[in-house]
Amino acid sequence: MSFNLHGIGISNGIAIGNAHLLSHAYSEVVQYEISTDAVEYERQRFETAVEKARRELSDLQTEIPIGSPSEFQEFIKLHQMILDDPILTDAPKKKIEELLCNAEWALKIQLEKLLEKFLVIKDLYLRERQKDIIQVAERIFKILEGAGNKVPNSHSHKNIIVVAHDISPTEVIQFREKDFAGFITDVGGTTSHTAIIARSLNVPSVVALHDARRLIKEGEQLIIDGTNGIVMASPGKKILREYRQKKNDIEKKQKVLKKIKNEPCITKDGKKIDLLANIEMPSDTLQAKENGAEGIGLFRTEFLYLGRGDLPTEEEQFLTYKNAAIDLNGHPIIIRTFDLGADKHTEQLSRPVAPNPALGLRAIRLCLAEPEMFRDQIRAILRASMYGNIKILIPMLMNKGEINQTLSAINLAKLSLREEGTAFDEDIKIGAMIEVPAAAIAFDEFAKQFDFFSVGTNDLIQYTLAVDRTDDSVSHLYDPLHPAVLELLNRIILKANFYTKPVGLCGEMAGDIRLTKILLGLGLKNLSMHPGNLLRVKNIVIHTNISEIEPKIKKLMAPDISTDERQKIITLLTDDRNMT
Ligand code: PEP
Ligand code: MG
Repeated sequence: MSFNLHGIGISNGIAIGNAHLLSHAYSEVVQYEISTDAVEYERQRFETAVEKARRELSDLQTEIPIGSPSEFQEFIKLHQMILDDPILTDAPKKKIEELLCNAEWALKIQLEKLLEKFLVIKDLYLRERQKDIIQVAERIFKILEGAGNKVPNSHSHKNIIVVAHDISPTEVIQFREKDFAGFITDVGGTTSHTAIIARSLNVPSVVALHDARRLIKEGEQLIIDGTNGIVMASPGKKILREYRQKKNDIEKKQKVLKKIKNEPCITKDGKKIDLLANIEMPSDTLQAKENGAEGIGLFRTEFLYLGRGDLPTEEEQFLTYKNAAIDLNGHPIIIRTFDLGADKHTEQLSRPVAPNPALGLRAIRLCLAEPEMFRDQIRAILRASMYGNIKILIPMLMNKGEINQTLSAINLAKLSLREEGTAFDEDIKIGAMIEVPAAAIAFDEFAKQFDFFSVGTNDLIQYTLAVDRTDDSVSHLYDPLHPAVLELLNRIILKANFYTKPVGLCGEMAGDIRLTKILLGLGLKNLSMHPGNLLRVKNIVIHTNISEIEPKIKKLMAPDISTDERQKIITLLTDDRNMT
């Protein structure tokens, strides 16, 4: 039976393929009663699943790439030990018999009993081990459900559409190596980090579908319309034909767009606009160059810390940044210090999950709370600055105290390098992200201390409107064009111009072609975005006459503008009928 689901499109285009379901969390396991005759079958099913989990772990062991951190091996060994413990893998068999329930339920009951014991453990290290137990149990749950989280091992994934309930940024990173047709999830907001990474897979994606994981069957044919946020399951022949045609048309348009890759990025009235790329991994520079990026406007370095058991060393980071700088061949590369915390939780630090993570120890707050980790990264970036045009960017600064502490940490790192006789770019530029309303309002405090600014609208919108960027239940309130957001943007740009300091924008707004004219009209000349959006934005830029837009923006920003007039201007400037 065919049916449609509606969500939020986060990566444009049409994908046609077959569903591969990623398993969901154990919390969703349901109980069902079984007859005494079925007990043996259920016990057998559980035993087979445990056996398969063992095989998966030993396969994983043989697949570890040479040179991977030694923790990988230890991590697998630990999981094998847990799997061999009868408390987890034998007791549920007794529970099946006692409770006359399905294997999943028996495992869930046993797991919860075990986890309760951890609540009274004071030792942080031991308490942390409960996560491993949950991970091992989840492996068994996934096998029992029939579809694991393992990426299917076929030569090509071009016809596979990944369907997940929820997935962390760390997990999405693992999908980047495969060329999937598309990606859909039940939850997630447009600018959640999961969505940003999913977008960087560069395939049509839709989030916030609510029931996709439950309703869609493994292998079912799907169409994703990433532009309109629609997923069609088991579509009829007519729909399939129509969407194949649409897909072809989009591919043709993309080929045409490639032709402007080497053209200068200048508006119709002669203003030069810099278009740069946001990257999460050094290998993303390839896609940035393929799409004509003039440099890297945001390297989200926190992804170097995720999905591993240890922290990257100074030396490892130095090599990564050095190679990226060499690769960029003199073009700018803005390296943002790690923005961990909030939805990018790192387990290596053994810090408890904050009650309100987005308002907690995140980004620069965490950098300053972990001075050694911060020092390692700063030293690595400084050392790499000898090999290219590197700049440092600090995330989420909010007050003068943080500014002072940050700058003195950088100065100390410089001093230590000088004492050792290690060279670095003495003139390296230090920038601040403006992504907290307090920083936008108290901009003068920042203006004198930094060389450049980058507006992080993903967070600026979240914190201005008090709308969690990761929560799809409030995603309809996440409005980049809210007067308060535009007011702050306007203020930042005017102030930066007043102080003659360069200002760019690196939030998701930069890559949204419906917003390009507004951003240009506000006076932005530097936009950094996901590489997949670069040519579409460039196409708008080179066909825009800024002097025609400026008076409209002036009207839009006037305090006495009527709601009707405001809407009229916004509709006019965001009209995407002729946009590719
Ligand atoms: C932002 O907040 O707009 C930004 C670019 O940073 P991140 O999305 O990584 O929080
Ligand atoms: Mg941010």
